[in-house]
Amino acid sequence: MTKQEIIKMVRRKEVTIDAHTHIGISPKFYYQFGYPYALSLEDMVVRMEMTGIDHSVVFPFVDSAYYEDDSDSPVIKTTTRHCQFPYELENRNLLNEIYEIFPEHSRKVLPFFMFDPSRKTEEQARHMEELSEKYPVFGLKTASTYIQAFVNDLDTKGKPILDFAKKRNLPVTFHSSFFHDDPWANVNDIVDFAERNPEVRVCIAHTARFTHSVLEKADRLDNCFVDLSAFIIHCKLAVQQSPHVAGGEERFPGDYSNPLSVMIELAETYPGTILWGTDTPFYYWIQKYYSADGTLHEERLDCGYKEESQLFNQLSEEIKARISYHNTIRYLFG
Ligand SMILES: [Zn+2]
Repeated sequence: MTKQEIIKMVRRKEVTIDAHTHIGISPKFYYQFGYPYALSLEDMVVRMEMTGIDHSVVFPFVDSAYYEDDSDSPVIKTTTRHCQFPYELENRNLLNEIYEIFPEHSRKVLPFFMFDPSRKTEEQARHMEELSEKYPVFGLKTASTYIQAFVNDLDTKGKPILDFAKKRNLPVTFHSSFFHDDPWANVNDIVDFAERNPEVRVCIAHTARFTHSVLEKADRLDNCFVDLSAFIIHCKLAVQQSPHVAGGEERFPGDYSNPLSVMIELAETYPGTILWGTDTPFYYWIQKYYSADGTLHEERLDCGYKEESQLFNQLSEEIKARISYHNTIRYLFG
């Protein structure tokens, strides 16, 4: 199917779209006893069938062979042993798996490219251009915390990538962070980027870490969306008063020990802004990573593979259709 045919098929009737999932591997996570560390398209499709999801937006994992696998180092180092620039291998692999290995599953997923806004951006943009000549691609994603790259670089150093997104009318999803020692994916930087670039559709992942002022601002901007990816474990962080989500006055008000009530409140307060996404397989999270001051953080947050869908299925039909179809279609296709 061509890209236009896929868009037509997805638009044709109200379906359930998961706006945030990953396919691929992270050897680094595996070597340091983290979880999850891998998911294949084949397994993704089995999960989608079990949980009633019609289409999923899929990105590669957050890791790339371009970054050195050195979990003892607080600073990300790069290597050209396996590829010449960030996500060269991972973007190619994602599209190969979808369109060459499993063409029979290809209509179920909407692949996004992963990118690094700070390093070798011309090479990345050229590669994305080349791949999207051959395969249907529906957007871009960055998770700049894990690669220590900066959201704010996208309209300076990362301009070749931004120009590519504009030329192809592709939306951009950003991993977000509230933690004050994460200068890479600050949630305020993302919403400010959306404001500076009204012609680019932007999605802030992880419910903007429940940051009230950012949710309000995103809702005022026509081009800015917020996805609910890994909602349950983020609610757990809120209950734990973790510094990784907004707290006190800065947090969107709600009873975070009852994730369903918060999800309903968000969908009703920001009717055109919220997108449903599970973050499969990262609804589960056991990882170690370094913050900017060189401190090693370790976390464990559990959530079963059906839990995000079970929560979603308790929403009203109206909210379900809005956050998993109507808003998502506007984000994806404009
Ligand atoms: Zn994710």
